[in-house]
Amino acid sequence: MAEFTMELSDEQKEVRDWLHGFAADVIRPAAAEWDEREETPWPVIQEAAKVGIYSLDFYAQQYFDPTGLGIPMAMEELFWGDAGIALSIVGTGLAAVGVLANGTEEQIGTWIPQMYGDASDVKVAAFCSSEPDAGSDVASMRTRAVYDEAKDEWVLNGTKTWATNGGIANVHVVVAVVDPDLGSKGHASFIIPPGTPGCSQGQKFKKHGIRASHTAEVVLDGVRVPGSCLLGGKEKLDERLARAREKAKQGGERVKNAAMATFEASRPAVGAMAVGTARAAYEVALDYATTREQFGRPIIDNQGVAFQLADMRTQIDAARLLVWRASWMAVNGKPFTAAEGSMSKLFASETAKKVTAQAIQILGGNGYTREYPVERMHRDAAIYTIFEGTSEIQRLVIARTLSGMPIR
Ligand SMILES: Cc1cc2nc3c(=O)[nH]c(=O)nc-3n(C[C@H](O)[C@H](O)[C@H](O)COP(=O)(O)OP(=O)(O)OC[C@H]3O[C@@H](n4cnc5c(N)ncnc54)[C@H](O)[C@@H]3O)c2cc1C
Repeated sequence: MAEFTMELSDEQKEVRDWLHGFAADVIRPAAAEWDEREETPWPVIQEAAKVGIYSLDFYAQQYFDPTGLGIPMAMEELFWGDAGIALSIVGTGLAAVGVLANGTEEQIGTWIPQMYGDASDVKVAAFCSSEPDAGSDVASMRTRAVYDEAKDEWVLNGTKTWATNGGIANVHVVVAVVDPDLGSKGHASFIIPPGTPGCSQGQKFKKHGIRASHTAEVVLDGVRVPGSCLLGGKEKLDERLARAREKAKQGGERVKNAAMATFEASRPAVGAMAVGTARAAYEVALDYATTREQFGRPIIDNQGVAFQLADMRTQIDAARLLVWRASWMAVNGKPFTAAEGSMSKLFASETAKKVTAQAIQILGGNGYTREYPVERMHRDAAIYTIFEGTSEIQRLVIARTLSGMPIR
């Protein structure tokens, strides 16, 4: 186990500074343009691929950092640059993690490289779980995957929604129902290879924020994929379903246990994105408050403004500490007995919304215009309390973990 320290290693600082440089020099200057265009910023993704930020290698290196801080540090810096562009860069990684976590070695080796493409021909990937009638309530998912034994193929039908990179992805990872009697325990994940007939983009959403990130419906109409596209393989799925059926017979007892490790491990990454956006807005507000003069002095000389900045900074630092704690716990296999991952996502996302609103206030009229970036940051920040589980769902998970009620 890595020894706990509050100090980043020299190597981590180097990576952080390199990412910060890319965020400051490439991402931030492009932010306003791609927000207005509401399109995937392919040239920026390509730049990220050229320098090695958009690649499986980079993501895996951060993912396997023994301190757990690699991913949160990377997310904070990239999202400090701009949330919409950063999501276009890291969205593929979120889909790749689904394969890394559940796929066989062969599946990892086959599909993850196709998710990224290469620097001369970049590709993106999408993770499709949400449906029009199954958002927070994942168990009510309706997309069905039925096994055609004669052909060793799975047939998928249904409509996914809110998929980041949905329809423009080279590879889609789709969660579908394989046993409707088992609720969320009867779900499995499938790879939809590039160009599979029957898989198409539905509506593309026009959004409030993170507008450079493509969000769309994905329609699955009689999609046939080979048996090898079931993540983890059929044998493992059959074993898992048998265990779930056995458990279902015993009924859902109230047991004191830890929150689900996979979600607890991934949620701090979203918390780190929120910290990045919050820190970006705070820095703009601090700079503005020290240079803008009213009544013959910088506005920061008014306690009413300075105290707001003090609160903003305190909350950002507290959010980062929660994110780092949960990330460290995940990598060191600590049980999430108080849903610490959900806690970090809840606090960081609410902080981002609050801090970006305060930043607008501190910039006054300028804060309300697109001449300054804080209104965009505020629009962007609103996503953090919604995706990867809303704030209400984080509270529900924390409360149920504390009380011992089954989480799902
Ligand atoms: C920009 C964007 C990108 C996304 N990217 C992806 C993606 O790549 N892949 C993917 O699969 N999904 C993605 N999502 C979907 C996202 O995860 C869902 O929007 C989210 O889980 C909430 O589901 P919902 O929108 O259906 O809201 P609902 O579940 O309908 O919730 C509506 C409101 O009711 C509240 N609520 C619901 N149930 C309860 C309860 N039990 N107690 C208290 N309050 C409750 C919620 O907190 C919320 O305030 C994305 C969404 C957006 C907006």
